[in-house]
Order: sequence, then structure tokens, then C-alpha cells
Amino acid sequence: MSEMLEGYDLDRLTIATLASHSSLQIVHGARKEGLGTLLVVTEDRAWFYEQFKHLVDRAVVVERWRDLCSERVVRALRESSAVLVPHGSFVEYVGLDCATGVPVPIFGLRSLLAVEADQHAKMELLRKSGVPTPESFPPGSDAGRPVIVKLPGAKGGRGYFVASSGREVLRGLEEAVRRGDISSASEAMVQEYLVGVTAYVHYFYSPVLDRLEITGADVRYESDVDGLRRMPLRVLAELGLEPTFTVVGNLPLVLRESLLPVVYEYGMRFLKTTRELLPPGIIGPFCLEGVIDREARIRVFEFSGRIVAGTNLYLDGSPYSYLYWDEPMSVGRRIAREVRLARERGALERVLT
Ligand code: AMP
Repeated sequence: MSEMLEGYDLDRLTIATLASHSSLQIVHGARKEGLGTLLVVTEDRAWFYEQFKHLVDRAVVVERWRDLCSERVVRALRESSAVLVPHGSFVEYVGLDCATGVPVPIFGLRSLLAVEADQHAKMELLRKSGVPTPESFPPGSDAGRPVIVKLPGAKGGRGYFVASSGREVLRGLEEAVRRGDISSASEAMVQEYLVGVTAYVHYFYSPVLDRLEITGADVRYESDVDGLRRMPLRVLAELGLEPTFTVVGNLPLVLRESLLPVVYEYGMRFLKTTRELLPPGIIGPFCLEGVIDREARIRVFEFSGRIVAGTNLYLDGSPYSYLYWDEPMSVGRRIAREVRLARERGALERVLT
């Protein structure tokens, strides 16, 4: 890290990110903490972000997102003493090689980006952490219960389908191969379909304070699984509609207080496992995404190892962040606060990779 920070003016650190996903929250929070702000923005979106120029010290306009790793953009970032904050669009937009190789310090655990990009590795990490997860099945085997079939690279749940038998799974996968969505059925992940309500719990691990915080929770609003309940079952059956899980937004969620110790413990287990398997372990924001059933059991089907879009709900703080900070503390601001605290304590290498 000392090499990566060479030539940096630590008194003028800048928080930089791609203009998408949660970037406005991130620059808003950095501004509140007195850090510089930089957005890398594509030509076609620059006009939109222009209206928030009071939050942005420097906009670096690019033709394509992958230009993040070009010499010109890296130079601009390094000149600004930039710390890159990855969000949900980061790897998807710039590609895994650029995301993991960009010669600019990243806030968070860089090695987790590759795990997150691989559905199977991701579930393996969750299982190893001892967090309850749905069962997985080889494609085509009979699970004896409904399953959800996840295609790799499906963005925000598009291209997932639910099936009730091994034969149905294979039929759906053959179609996906024919469409060219996958090259073979073995690429798909077949998971027990969890019955209950979904809940996405946001966490922040602070290496500086050595403390795990719950920063919020949300529910994704998905089209059209969330819309189908508006239609009478009789009509639904006639339509034979295949529901999709395309995320269109996020709704706030406050959990029953008795669930908090459970989700906190799951967060701790996940933190501990990343420390063992991917040292130094997770840094900053992450999210455990699960289903809570009628017995209030929580099973986790997915994690995000960085800021999630559901945090955009809490620009002014969440019911949980208030308990830790007693001031408006978005996750964007929390990231900047961590960078600031690390700088004050001469411990930047604990939050950057
Ligand atoms: P993911 O891409 O894994 O975040 O999943 C997208 C959406 O699919 C989730 O927000 C859930 O609505 C649904 N989903 C994913 N996995 C499961 C599961 N094992 N059981 C039930 N629903 C699921």
C-alpha cells in the first residue's frame, strides 16, 4: 500500500467512484466529511450528473467505463490522491481484470471482487462461514421441492427461473443454451427456493474501531415477482407467466428487534471467515441477503462485499446508524469517516487494498 500511495497528498484525499449505483450518496458523504470528490462519468450521462456539480470537485468524462484503467484516467485519479470506492456496478461496468488491477487504492477488500463475480465461489464462502444457506443441487437432479435456477451473469435476477422438478430445470436450461445465455447447463446454479420474505441486511466493518455495525436493511422491489400478487391467482394460472426478479428499486425495512442478535451474529461469522480465508478480511460495507421464514429462521442466499443500492434509502442515516453515531450517517458518509479516522491514526493501510 505504501507504494500505491506514493505521490499522494494525504491531506487532500479524494473519494472517487463511477457515476452510477450509489455514487451520489458516496460523494455526498465524502463532502460531509471534508474529503475531495471525483466522479468518473460516461459521456452519455455527464449531463445528468452536471446538476450535482456542487458535490463533485472533479468529473472525469470517459467514452466507455473500461477507460477507468486507461493511462489518462489513472493519472487523473492519482493526481487527485484518489481512493476508489467500488459499488454494485463497478465490476459489471469495468470488468474483473480492470477492477482488480487498477493501480489506485481501493476502499475495501480487493480480493473479494473476484469471489463475488463467481456465483459458486460466493456460496462456498457463505457456507464456510457457517451462515445457514439454501441447499444446492446438481442441475437435473430431483430436489423434491421447488428450486430457483440462477444463470451466471444474470443481472439483478433477470434470467432466473423457478422450477418444481429436475426435468423442468433441464428444459429451462436447454432453452437458455439455445438462446446463447449459457454454453452448458452445468454453468447454472440450482438452489432450493426459500419460502418466506426477503431481507437484505447492511453491515459495516470498521478496521479502525474494530467494530461491526448494522447500518440498515431493505427489501428489493422486483418485477415482476412483487407485482404478481396484484393479479388474481385464477388469471395468473391461465397466463402461465414466468416471473422475473429484475430489481427496480428498494424499500426500507426495520427488522423485529429480536432478529437483530441473529443477523449480527451472521455478520460476525462472515467477517471472521473472510479474515481467515481472504486476509485481512472484509473492510467497510457489505450485505447479507436472505429469506426469513414463518419460524423466523433466516437463510442467506447471497452476499455483496461492498456498498449495496439499498443504502441509498438512508442518505440521512438509518434507524440503526443513529444508534451508533447519533448523527445523520449514510453508508457513503461512513466510508468517508473511516478513511478520515484511518488517516488521523496513520492507519490508511488498514482500510485500503
Ligand atoms: P440474487 O441475484 O441472488 O440476489 O437473487 C435475485 C432475487 O431472486 C432475490 O432478490 C430473491 O427475490 C430471489 N432469490 C434468490 N435466491 C433465492 C432463493 N434461494 N429462494 C427464494 N428466492 C430467491
